[in-house]
Amino acid sequence: MKRLAAPLLAGLLLALLPVPAHAAGQSLAGAVIALDPGHQLGNSNPKFSSQMKQKRFNGRLVKSCNTTGTATNKGLPEATFTWQVSQELKKLLEAQGARVELTRTTNSRDSWGPCVWDRGGFSAKVGADLFVSIHADGAPAKGRGFHVIAPGRLKGWTGDIAAGSRNLALSMIDGMRQAGARPTTYLSSPLSVRTDQSTLNFNAVPSVIVELGNMRNAREAAQMSSASGVRLYAEQLAAGISRYCAVQSRCR
Ligand SMILES: [Zn+2]
Repeated sequence: MKRLAAPLLAGLLLALLPVPAHAAGQSLAGAVIALDPGHQLGNSNPKFSSQMKQKRFNGRLVKSCNTTGTATNKGLPEATFTWQVSQELKKLLEAQGARVELTRTTNSRDSWGPCVWDRGGFSAKVGADLFVSIHADGAPAKGRGFHVIAPGRLKGWTGDIAAGSRNLALSMIDGMRQAGARPTTYLSSPLSVRTDQSTLNFNAVPSVIVELGNMRNAREAAQMSSASGVRLYAEQLAAGISRYCAVQSRCR
């Protein structure tokens, strides 16, 4: 018993010492992260068709409020998948000390939108440091894997966020790959730079859209439809966000 006393005492003293924030897993402490679960279940509800038809110029072209999104062949809507991933991701980021704000707080047939311009404007409203919009694609069935869309330079629109968003996109790709996510097999690169996305064009902070996979691919559809799969996608996104904050030294 006497021999155990010294290590035991040392252990107790160590436990009482203040632990640096990052060592306690608070690597995102102070960060404000805006998550945008793509689409909304009620976007396909006919009673909201007039809201869906609202239109706005996004710096490049006129686009309508929001779309229904895609679905798996078995009927899992993209809106529900992105909602579930966002809920899991929010928990993971909060556990690392981040404040997380979501562009929508329901997933319901009785809700619509928000419109893409409000999703884009959301990050400034909540003082976010970065913005990640979560989607899944509806591509030809053979294709699979994720890709990340960053805003191209549009003067007066994205000139101030294009470079930062590209950095965010590259970190997301690196972090997600390290966490086991496979890049797209149906596009030439996991990085797409586009000027037609209202969600990005209306943004004021580094922002990306992540297409997590192809809902029309049987293998990925199965993963998207399982709780463990949803958790895995959330972990991969969390790894991408952590990577960005580590590369930047902080998220701001
Ligand atoms: Zn989508």
